[in-house]
Amino acid sequence: MRVVIVGGGIGGLALGAGLRRAGHEVAVFDRDRDVAATGGYHITLDERAQSALARLVAPETMRRLLASGSALRLRDRDMLWDYRGRLLGYGPDLTGSASIDIDRITLRTLLADAVGADLHLGSTVSEVGIDDNGTPRVVFVEGTSVTADLVVGADGTHSVVSRHLAAGPTNHPTGLIGFSGRTRRADLDLTEQQRLGTRSTMGIGPRGAALYVGYLDPIGNAALDAPALSMSITTGPTYIWGAMFPESADIDSLRALRGRARQTALIDRFRHRNWARHTLEVIARADPASVAAFRFNAASTRATDLAPWPTGRITALGDAVHATPPTAGMGAGAAIQDAADLAAQLDSHTDITAAIGHYETQLRRRGAQVLTAAMRTVRLILATDTTPGALATTTLTPLLAVAARLRPNPSARR
Ligand SMILES: Cc1cc2nc3c(=O)[nH]c(=O)nc-3n(C[C@H](O)[C@H](O)[C@H](O)COP(=O)(O)OP(=O)(O)OC[C@H]3O[C@@H](n4cnc5c(N)ncnc54)[C@H](O)[C@@H]3O)c2cc1C
Repeated sequence: MRVVIVGGGIGGLALGAGLRRAGHEVAVFDRDRDVAATGGYHITLDERAQSALARLVAPETMRRLLASGSALRLRDRDMLWDYRGRLLGYGPDLTGSASIDIDRITLRTLLADAVGADLHLGSTVSEVGIDDNGTPRVVFVEGTSVTADLVVGADGTHSVVSRHLAAGPTNHPTGLIGFSGRTRRADLDLTEQQRLGTRSTMGIGPRGAALYVGYLDPIGNAALDAPALSMSITTGPTYIWGAMFPESADIDSLRALRGRARQTALIDRFRHRNWARHTLEVIARADPASVAAFRFNAASTRATDLAPWPTGRITALGDAVHATPPTAGMGAGAAIQDAADLAAQLDSHTDITAAIGHYETQLRRRGAQVLTAAMRTVRLILATDTTPGALATTTLTPLLAVAARLRPNPSARR
């Protein structure tokens, strides 16, 4: 079978690698000219995502993945802070966790290697459709086109393929704008290094501002201790942070700024909301070239709203169907599971449409699950931007901080 995949991001490459191994003729087209020339901070892959990936790629690729990823079980327990830097509580015990965090660029490079010559970069798709004889066709911006037995749209949040299938957008802005950056742990003052520790943390404050600080150390915390196999672009303990604000003309204007100017403006917006200066050091000391901005889009949390098209020989996966904000760290993992499921259905049905029908049923269910988890955090952050929410944040957090101080530190018991 000849399969054309539109989009060589995480899901498209995972599918391309799997179908190639299963002996199908595959072509993956992506508009990017270089797989490493892409943004993104770290991607979390839980046990389900890793087991889906293991069904798609060679064992050697899985070993490289684990050697390049940071194991959650090896980092300290996550913490929740308020905007003044007061500890509010701890995250769940991660000692038994199989999840890993990995740079998006590292993951994409690994998967691109697995797809090899079947990945065609610098190819932007402008439209898809079905020929008069029922054959799916993909058209490129230059006007050239290719046909296939099956076309899969893995072209992300602003998917051309799913827009064609659904006759309109399949997601909408959530009302949150995100900014991300990378800061080497060694670049922070010692007190701030100690406060943040070797863990991921979340800071919340009034009026919708939140600061997630993820901890990535694929060398010291490698999921597989095999340095020769590591492809990680992160070479030492690094905080990978994401700042979030409710969308407004003021916050939107920061997207037009670059590097240092954007960092300074971000810190200013947090300070304006009363955040303690030391909590913002992680932003101030970031590599200016790493500071990116993006709008959080999300599809519906209802399974019946997802993939709202009749089953046929053009389908889609990942963010093209269930665009997921990064607030649950599940978007990439879900795209990989979509890919594994689609490959398995194509393997067990001779009729392509029947395979796609079964696949899309699973796709809707999985999409709704990850969206429900991701939107919980989005709604919580947006709730602090209401008058009662702001009042609750400013009056309740000091009380929660006192309660947290009185509770024993669960990490100390380990
Ligand atoms: C730049 C970037 C950074 C991200 N950073 C993070 C992060 O740090 N943490 C996190 O949890 N999630 C992040 N995400 C989201 C996460 O990677 C996705 O949820 C997940 O990868 C979903 O996989 P996907 O394959 O559906 O889409 P994506 O991985 O987004 O891949 C879509 C691909 O389609 C290509 N494409 C789009 N339109 C066309 C077209 N018309 N023609 C050809 N190619 C096209 C794009 O270039 C892209 O490579 C990021 C996404 C992007 C695009």
